[in-house]
Amino acid sequence: MSRTLIVSNRLPTKVSRSSEGELQFSPSEGGLATGLGSIYRRGENVWVGWPGQYLDSPEDEQRVTEQLTADHMQPVFLTEQEIKDFYEGFSNETLWPTFHYFAQFAQFEPHTWEAYEAVNRKFCDAVAALAGPEDTIWVHDYQLLLLPGMLRERLPEATIGFFLHIPFPSYELFRALPWREQLLRGMLGADLIGFHTYGYVRHFLSATERLLNLSRRDGLVETGTRAVLVDAFPMGIDYDKYAEVAASEEARRLEHEYREALQGQRVVLSIDRLDYTKGIAQRLRAFELLLTRHPELHNHVTLLMLVVPSRDQVAQYQALKEEIDELVGRINGQYRTISWSPIQYFYRSYPVEELSALYRLADVALVTPMRDGMNLVAKEFVASKLDQHGVLVLSERAGAARELSDALIINPTDTSQVADTLFEALMMPEEEQQQRMQGLQAIVQRYNIHAWVELFMDRLAYSKIKQGALS
Ligand code: UDP
Repeated sequence: MSRTLIVSNRLPTKVSRSSEGELQFSPSEGGLATGLGSIYRRGENVWVGWPGQYLDSPEDEQRVTEQLTADHMQPVFLTEQEIKDFYEGFSNETLWPTFHYFAQFAQFEPHTWEAYEAVNRKFCDAVAALAGPEDTIWVHDYQLLLLPGMLRERLPEATIGFFLHIPFPSYELFRALPWREQLLRGMLGADLIGFHTYGYVRHFLSATERLLNLSRRDGLVETGTRAVLVDAFPMGIDYDKYAEVAASEEARRLEHEYREALQGQRVVLSIDRLDYTKGIAQRLRAFELLLTRHPELHNHVTLLMLVVPSRDQVAQYQALKEEIDELVGRINGQYRTISWSPIQYFYRSYPVEELSALYRLADVALVTPMRDGMNLVAKEFVASKLDQHGVLVLSERAGAARELSDALIINPTDTSQVADTLFEALMMPEEEQQQRMQGLQAIVQRYNIHAWVELFMDRLAYSKIKQGALS
C-alpha cells in the first residue's frame, strides 16, 4: 500500500528540556499540525522533521526517536552548527528577508548556503529511507526548497508536492540570491507547487521563465523532462475549533474579566510574532496619528498589542524590539492619564483561550504587515466573532487580503490612511459590521484548513495523472 509522507522543518511535536534537564514533548497547536493530523496519523503515514531541540547524546536521540515514531513521526536531528547556519542563517537571514522584500537585511554567506544544502540532503536521506516510488511526499516551506529536486533524483517515480507558506517575491528581489537557479530547480523537483495567492504564482512563473528559460502553459512549467503544475491554495484555519473555543465558558469568563478591567474602553487589537515584516512600528505611528487627529477618542479607546517573542537572537529583531518599546513608551507618556493607557503592550505568548477572549472582546482587529504570506490572525479573529460585532482592518500586502475583501483594506505604509480607516472602523454602524463579518465568516468557514489539505492532495494526485498522460 502506498504511504503519504509529510516533510517540514519542524515536527508537530516539540521536544524541549525542563529546568531539571528532563526531555519534554509538547504537541503543536498550529493550524498545519491540525490540518495534517488526519493524514500523518493514518495507516503507515509519517511526518518527517526536526523536533526543535538540539540533543547532545545518542541515548537522548534514541529516546526521542522511540517516542516520536510511536506517534507516526520520524525525527531529523540537527547539530548546533546546522541550527545556526541552516536554520538561523540561510533560512531566516537570507531567504526570509529576501522573500518578504526586506532585501537590505539579507545576508549572502557561502557557508550558510552550504549548510542549507547539507541539511536538505539530510532530510532527503531521512525521507528516502522511508519512501518508495509509489508514495506521495508533501514537502513544506522555505527551509526545504531544495528537497523536492533531491528527492526526484532518488525517487524519480514518487509523487511530490511542495507548498510555500511565505510569499514568493517579485523576480527583481529573487534574482539577488546568488543561488537562485539551484533554488528554483530544487522546487521544480515537485509535481505540484502551491502558493497562498496567484500573485506569488505569477512571481514564481516569471522567475522560472527569466532565470531558467523554461516555457509554461496553462499553469504548467515544462522542465524538459517533466511538466510541473503550479497553483494557488490559500491556507485556511480550523474554523470550527476557533468558533468552539470562542463559545466556551472559559473564553466568555476571561472576556468578561478583561471588559471589567478596561471599564468600557473601545478595544483595538493587534497580535503578531515579533518580526520586521509585521509592520508593528508603522501601526503604532498610525495609532498615534489617530489620537492626534481625534482628541475625542482620548480616554475611550485602547490599543491592546500582543507581541510574541521570536528570533530574539537576531540583531534586526533586537533592534525592532527596542524601537517598539520606545514608541510605546513615547505614545503612552504623551497621552496617558491616571485612568487611561492608550496602549497596553504585552511581550509574551498566550494560550488559545486567552487569545479567543481577546478576539471576542476586540471592536477592531488591526493587521498591518508590510508583507505576510497569509496571516492567520486575521482569520482567527473572524472565526471568533460569534456575535458578528467587530471590524477587520487588513493590510493589502497580507495574502489573506485576496480572500477577505469585506475587511477594510489598507496600505500599511500610508500612516494617514491607516489612521483614517481605524477611525472609520471605530465609527462603523453595527449593521454594516454584521454584514461585513457575515461575508468574511462565509469565506473563512468554507475555505478552512481541512478544505485546503483536501484540495492540495486532490490536485497533487491529478498532477501525477497529468504527468502520466504527457509522458
Ligand atoms: N499565536 C500563538 N500564541 C500567541 C499569539 C499568537 O500561538 O500568543 C498564534 C496565532 O493564533 C496564529 C499564529 O500564532 O495562529 C500566527 O500566525 P500568522 O499566520 O498570523 O503569522 P506567522 O507568525 O505565522 O508569521
